[in-house]
Amino acid sequence: MLTQNLGYPRIGSQRQLKKACEQYWAGKIDLKELNKVARSIKEQNWQTQLDAGIDLIPCNDFSYYDQVLDTSLLLGVIPKRYSPVLSQVKANCEIDLYFAMARGYQKDGLDITAMEMTKWLDTNYHYIVPEFTENQDFKIFNENIFSEYNVAKQHLGEKAKPVLLGPVSYLMLGKEKEPGFERIDLIKKLVPVYIEIINRLRLQGVKWIQFDEPCLALDLSKKEKEAFEYAYRVISHGVSGVKLLVATYFEALLDNTQLAVNLPITALHIDLARAPEQLDEVLALIPDYLQLSLGVVDGRNVWKNDYEKSLALIHKAVEKLGADRVIISPSCSLLHSPIDLELETAMDTEIRNWMAFAKQKLTEVNEIRQIMEGNTTLLETNKAALQSRRLSQKVHQQVVKDRVASITDAEASRKSAFPLRQQLHNERFNLPSFPTTTIGSFPQTDDIRQLRARFKKGELTLEQYEKTIERATVDAIRWQEEIGLDVLVHGEFERNDMVEYFGEQLDGFLFTRNGWVQSYGSRCVKPPVIYGDVSRPKDMTVRWSTFAAAQTKKPMKGMLTGPVTILQWSFVRDDQPRDVTTNQIAFAIRDEVLALEQAGIGIVQIDEAAIREGLPLRKAKHPHYLDWAVKAFRITASGVQDKTQIHTHMCYSEFNNIIAHIAAMDADVITIETSRSQMELLEAFAHFDYPNEIGPGVYDIHSPRVPTTEEMASLLAKAADLLPARNLWVNPDCGLKTRKWPETKAALQNMVAAAKLAREQISVESAT
Ligand code: GLN
Ligand code: ZN
Repeated sequence: MLTQNLGYPRIGSQRQLKKACEQYWAGKIDLKELNKVARSIKEQNWQTQLDAGIDLIPCNDFSYYDQVLDTSLLLGVIPKRYSPVLSQVKANCEIDLYFAMARGYQKDGLDITAMEMTKWLDTNYHYIVPEFTENQDFKIFNENIFSEYNVAKQHLGEKAKPVLLGPVSYLMLGKEKEPGFERIDLIKKLVPVYIEIINRLRLQGVKWIQFDEPCLALDLSKKEKEAFEYAYRVISHGVSGVKLLVATYFEALLDNTQLAVNLPITALHIDLARAPEQLDEVLALIPDYLQLSLGVVDGRNVWKNDYEKSLALIHKAVEKLGADRVIISPSCSLLHSPIDLELETAMDTEIRNWMAFAKQKLTEVNEIRQIMEGNTTLLETNKAALQSRRLSQKVHQQVVKDRVASITDAEASRKSAFPLRQQLHNERFNLPSFPTTTIGSFPQTDDIRQLRARFKKGELTLEQYEKTIERATVDAIRWQEEIGLDVLVHGEFERNDMVEYFGEQLDGFLFTRNGWVQSYGSRCVKPPVIYGDVSRPKDMTVRWSTFAAAQTKKPMKGMLTGPVTILQWSFVRDDQPRDVTTNQIAFAIRDEVLALEQAGIGIVQIDEAAIREGLPLRKAKHPHYLDWAVKAFRITASGVQDKTQIHTHMCYSEFNNIIAHIAAMDADVITIETSRSQMELLEAFAHFDYPNEIGPGVYDIHSPRVPTTEEMASLLAKAADLLPARNLWVNPDCGLKTRKWPETKAALQNMVAAAKLAREQISVESAT
């Protein structure tokens, strides 16, 4: 029985690649230095995989920025706007063209925008979106895959397996840059280049090639299905002597099973961590030559594998196929998990014994094979670790479980319907029409960041730290009053990150020292780990919210992060369904909302920045997800009295398919991102007759540019054409923490002026 790996993290266990890239961009090291760092990461990764006893080890899974961008460079899919860069970079400097595509190019009198970035399926990894034109040409443009294989071969011999994004997924994940064609139709032009690549690799000695085709597990149109059939039929005719592996992950094949198992390839990989139930159907339909790679070790979490469960799946496959047609594997590339648990020397040792990062997951794959071959001791050790987790007091709190198990409908509903609440809010806050507010954070200067870091390291006393945060908060409040904002915020100077801040104060969360995961390019995130039942030992935000409220007569918003967002941006438990974990967080945040209310805070904002990105990949699963996600928000928001105003904020602009669920959240006010789409998305709200109040962002905070009063006033006028003016708020697209003060001040002054103009020019019918 073979083992394989699909991909390994490439940032380096100490984030060496991040540092090297950033130094290269800053001109502090040259290309030779950068390549040296890359080479040493690759070699280390290969050695780790060899040591772990993996048979098929990926190469070309390394990337300086992103593997989809690598594919674009390999295939010569370079948007026209980069032609000037192309002519400037010398043959050995293709990497500068590559980074220009990733990051934009502002040098030598040129100013070329970067390519768009978007989330890699349902992960938090972002890829660079390929741009296609109607007459798109493909050719081998970049030689990295060939040179990397040569190096890999020296280290790994026949075990080296080049990885390539498959042709159909490559097209599907891109976008058309001009009208009049469908990118999937480019498959006929694309496949010959893939054949050329495969044949060159074969001449270099390649035995196996892995094609990542995650889109094979998505909802596919007829044309897309045909593209899969076509591509692999033509490829299999065009090449011989190489074993082709097609890897799917993150979802079950479902209605694409027939299609997938009948592709003329040597082996198919399926994700049995996400979708173990698909094994039966795959085994029922599999033709008698196809090898099956079983992704049993979850590549997207931090937990030890349950060997018994994995073995049951493997036994089932071996029974039908025989051991020589079965390959054992992680479920997907290990890119999405932290690198090495051994570095977490400060972690609670009991909890650490429940976990596995990328390196440990490779060992798991190998151990599972050894157990299949008769080594039962390994199984016993694994069982003991799992048993310790199952029974640990650190994981289980009966009160928390009971509370979640007994949710009542009343707990998830506001006491009265929105119109009555709105009336109470109008009386209580007496705000002008087009009330102005901001989304929460104000610019985080280096001083503030350093202050928090030094306090964390113990270099400052609590008193020193709080004094400075107080000063920043007071300054921000004075300034908001001066420019005439209506609903104020405290500025979030005490927060490093909107999830981490809460995770650090809730029970059931832990933080790693080195658990970095690539988010995009050189950016990495270190998500918190939710390991146990979640509860809230004490107030989390009351101290700063009440301090801020005491500085002003104007209403002060309390600021919280919502349960779905906290879940989505953490590593979560795999021993209970996601919705149960979310509901536990929901009750903890609900208690915080109530504590704020008790402390006199009349307006509380619960950010749900990530509700939309939690949408499952398959449409059929959307309703179930949206139901529990909305319910979790409602649990959080519904404990309060009618007179308390609940806001929510979402930072994205596509609501079309989910608008009914957004309305079902029943927030009194929702603020959303709209400025770049020129209010287009408000049509979804208008069409739906969205009943509650809404603040469409009029100021794009993703750019340092200061919008003018007139342009924001005209956005408000557009909004008032679509929605009842009495329900409109005036605010930026998102929080301001990444901006600098001067542009923020100028923009918000203009925004307040725009609201004044709107009050003069747009009539608002009575609110009742
Ligand atoms: N309240 C948060 C802030 O202002 C919201 C951030 C977000 O939506 N991503 O920073
Ligand atoms: Zn936002």
